[in-house]
Amino acid sequence: MKVHDAMYIGGEWRAPASPETIAVIDPSTEQVVAHVPAGTAEDVDAAVRAARAALPGWAATPPAERAARLTALRDALAARAEEIAATVTTELGAPPKLAAGVHTALPVTVAGTYAALAATHPFEEKVGNSTVYSEPVGVVAAITPWNYPLHQIVAKAAPALAAGCTLVLKPAEDTPLTAQLFAEAVHDAGVPAGVFNLVTGLGPVAGQALAEHPGVDLVSFTGSTAVGRRIGALAGGAVKRVALELGGKSANVILPGADLGKAVAVGVANVMSNSGQTCSAWTRMLVHTDQYEEAVALAAAAVATYVPGERVGPLVSARQRDRVRGYIEQGVAEGARLVAGGPEAPRETGYFVAPTVFADVTPGMTIAREEIFGPVVSIMRYEDEEDALALANGTEYGLAGAVWGAPEAAVAFARRMETGQVDINGGRFNPLAPFGGWKQSGVGRELGAHGLAEYLQTKSLQF
Ligand code: NAD
Repeated sequence: MKVHDAMYIGGEWRAPASPETIAVIDPSTEQVVAHVPAGTAEDVDAAVRAARAALPGWAATPPAERAARLTALRDALAARAEEIAATVTTELGAPPKLAAGVHTALPVTVAGTYAALAATHPFEEKVGNSTVYSEPVGVVAAITPWNYPLHQIVAKAAPALAAGCTLVLKPAEDTPLTAQLFAEAVHDAGVPAGVFNLVTGLGPVAGQALAEHPGVDLVSFTGSTAVGRRIGALAGGAVKRVALELGGKSANVILPGADLGKAVAVGVANVMSNSGQTCSAWTRMLVHTDQYEEAVALAAAAVATYVPGERVGPLVSARQRDRVRGYIEQGVAEGARLVAGGPEAPRETGYFVAPTVFADVTPGMTIAREEIFGPVVSIMRYEDEEDALALANGTEYGLAGAVWGAPEAAVAFARRMETGQVDINGGRFNPLAPFGGWKQSGVGRELGAHGLAEYLQTKSLQF
């Protein structure tokens, strides 16, 4: 595994301003596997200057040429697929199959969608007696979390590059090695120097300096609601564009007409995937009272097949493991019925949490309200459809969700949900569908044409 002891700024790997480093830990073994530079405000400033200097040239590059660079970027990522997957397994703990699929193949696909969109998007349109131009917003600060290290980067960098923006990426401190591989791919793709820049570092230091930098025109942030609020306030104060992808507490609504076995099995799989570290996970399973005990038994049986260290990996860090265990203890203390798992460590080594199912979860409980970000399913009971809707919408979040049932009834229910994305009877991932939150889950959209629009601003000329 190649590790850079430098920042990628202005098209080259440059020595950092400070000798401080951040240790990267393999959460399966608890061993330190690498060190990366801890960036400072000085590194951030150098990166923003490089991005500013590269902006006029990249903004004026014809969309077809930007598309060609994005195609080359997709290919450069695909050429590193094995190395990327192995790196995600090392720094996040994702089991190899998951690392190769969702963590690697999916972002390669997303990069390809933006190569296509850059080539076909109408950057210039006639509206009556006006010509409306969609122009790049400018210099983008991309601040990403650790849960899907490459996807979170590509979901910001690819549309930014397609739009003609330049950017500075500050990846999560837990997973900086995947970000270094992304920078290598950008370099190999022939993206001009300064268009993409990488500064590794701590959130409150490098992240904060980047979000505050006056040379940044748009801050695109994915992470916790607490930090997102702070970044939103900073951006508001500076009248800067901002996009926030925050937490979720999504509902998996199983209507009486559903295939119960499938709905429960897919629902459990959705939460277990990536050890529950998914902002859009369907963490609240809503079941009609007549089918409730059957669903609880099915969920307990399904979760037993998720063996820690085999099908389900560890959590990313000791901090996240302790946080999730704390939620499980709180669930027990507040009276939820523990039907599988619990707070005890399932393995001696590694930041593993036992796949856990709670029944008899009521809306006031902490585990029904707060984002746990671990392999924990909370099963809630409803009496009728209105009750189910009140439960589904009774959260400050609104990121995703699922509805199972007769197709017409499921769609009608989904249309009344206060959330950004709903899978009907299992759905199927669509990399062109807008992804993003209602309510406290965020501002803005990622993926597809909606994701591209975040990085564009309009100018109209009247004739
Ligand atoms: P976080 O919000 O602290 O970190 C996300 C990113 O923001 C990281 O790159 C971090 O370095 C940076 N950051 C932290 N403080 C900052 C600051 N003051 N200014 C600028 N940047 C800053 O999230 P976390 O601690 O990694 O995870 C905590 C919780 O966030 C999780 O338990 C989960 O609930 C949520 N989360 C959500 C998502 C999502 O996709 N929506 C992803 C990861 C985590």
